[in-house]
Amino acid sequence: MRGGVGLKHEPVPLAIVGGGAAGMFAAAVAAEREVGCLVFERKVRLGAKMLMTANGRCNFTKDIPAEQFLRDVGDPVSSWVASALRSCPPQSIIRGVRSLGVKLRRMEDGRMFPDSGQAATIVHAFGDLLRDEGVPLCVNCPVTGIQPMKNGFVVATERFTVWARNVLVATGGLSFPKTGSVGDGQDFARQLGHRIEPCRAGLTGMEVRDRAIAAQAGARFDDGMARVLDASGRAVFSSAGEVDCEKWGLSGAAVYNCQRWLARHGYGGMSMEVSYGGQRTALHDLVPRPLKEAIVTVGGVSREDVDPATMMSRKVPGLYFAGEVLDLDGPTGGYNLTLAFATARAAVVSVQARLREKKGELW
Ligand SMILES: Cc1cc2nc3c(=O)[nH]c(=O)nc-3n(C[C@H](O)[C@H](O)[C@H](O)COP(=O)(O)OP(=O)(O)OC[C@H]3O[C@@H](n4cnc5c(N)ncnc54)[C@H](O)[C@@H]3O)c2cc1C
Repeated sequence: MRGGVGLKHEPVPLAIVGGGAAGMFAAAVAAEREVGCLVFERKVRLGAKMLMTANGRCNFTKDIPAEQFLRDVGDPVSSWVASALRSCPPQSIIRGVRSLGVKLRRMEDGRMFPDSGQAATIVHAFGDLLRDEGVPLCVNCPVTGIQPMKNGFVVATERFTVWARNVLVATGGLSFPKTGSVGDGQDFARQLGHRIEPCRAGLTGMEVRDRAIAAQAGARFDDGMARVLDASGRAVFSSAGEVDCEKWGLSGAAVYNCQRWLARHGYGGMSMEVSYGGQRTALHDLVPRPLKEAIVTVGGVSREDVDPATMMSRKVPGLYFAGEVLDLDGPTGGYNLTLAFATARAAVVSVQARLREKKGELW
């Protein structure tokens, strides 16, 4: 059986809840490994958030060694995700995307994009693969509940239920809810006894009340620098790169990475210093832009409740998590899609092993 649903009265080997970056990648891996799966997606089309990435250009990974990738992600996330990432490093993702017939462009710093400059090229390539492999897609079909039972799970939608042997929750974070990621996966996880780390904005701009900045709204400075300073004025984190002026304050990669560091490690007693175009702004009252505008959600399903080798829940066997629904995030530059892909792959590899074990139990 290639990628199809089980026979009558048989459970689906794997139900994937969410057809975003992690869900599509999981379905592609499942098809390649001949693990039957069914994808549920809230929206009418797959990959709505992926279409928005990098201003519609999709910086889908960074062509750097796995160890450097992990150093850039930083703890506490990097040590938890190391096993999944080493098994699915950026080089494998690049090979995989290329194998879908997508021509690629590599920037000097390693950031990878489709050569077309269109995120749709990658989303369509995944869609074509799933169509060719015959993976059933239930679009316009939000999952409303996941109920563990003796032999798997009942996955409920508004109109029907499906019996699944394993379930992968890949419903994303909480930012840009119009793309379909509204926090359902965190709710399912909570209902099934998992801890949820508070969800907050990651990789977002900082509000600054400064008329000079507002007057420059729209200006971009490619060689900016942002630093996080502790109470004694010591720099504890820094990021070089783009700084942009906005009506409400400062944005751009350098600011985003410092904001993410603060969201992870706490704003208390910290300040930020941002340099751009010969100017320097000190930010003492640190107010990030709201979560709904953030590139990534910091927080989500607690890493402690999920086995990092397999992405399987430590509370409910057969229940898996991948991507931003987890308390998992990286800096800007292709890291977050890579984390979604790597965790999705780890989950499917484990589902495949689990299905083999189950067969062994029977005979
Ligand atoms: C503006 C912007 C730019 C970005 N740029 C980049 C970039 O260039 N590079 C990078 O690496 N990362 C980027 N990111 C981050 C990246 O897009 C996310 O980290 C990534 O999409 C997370 O993948 P995911 O599959 O976990 O979640 P998502 O891609 O959000 O997918 C979750 C899917 O689950 C579906 N869903 C939710 N609830 C249900 C339900 N109950 N039933 C069925 N389906 C459901 C949603 O509709 C959605 O399609 C960007 C994010 C934003 C917002």
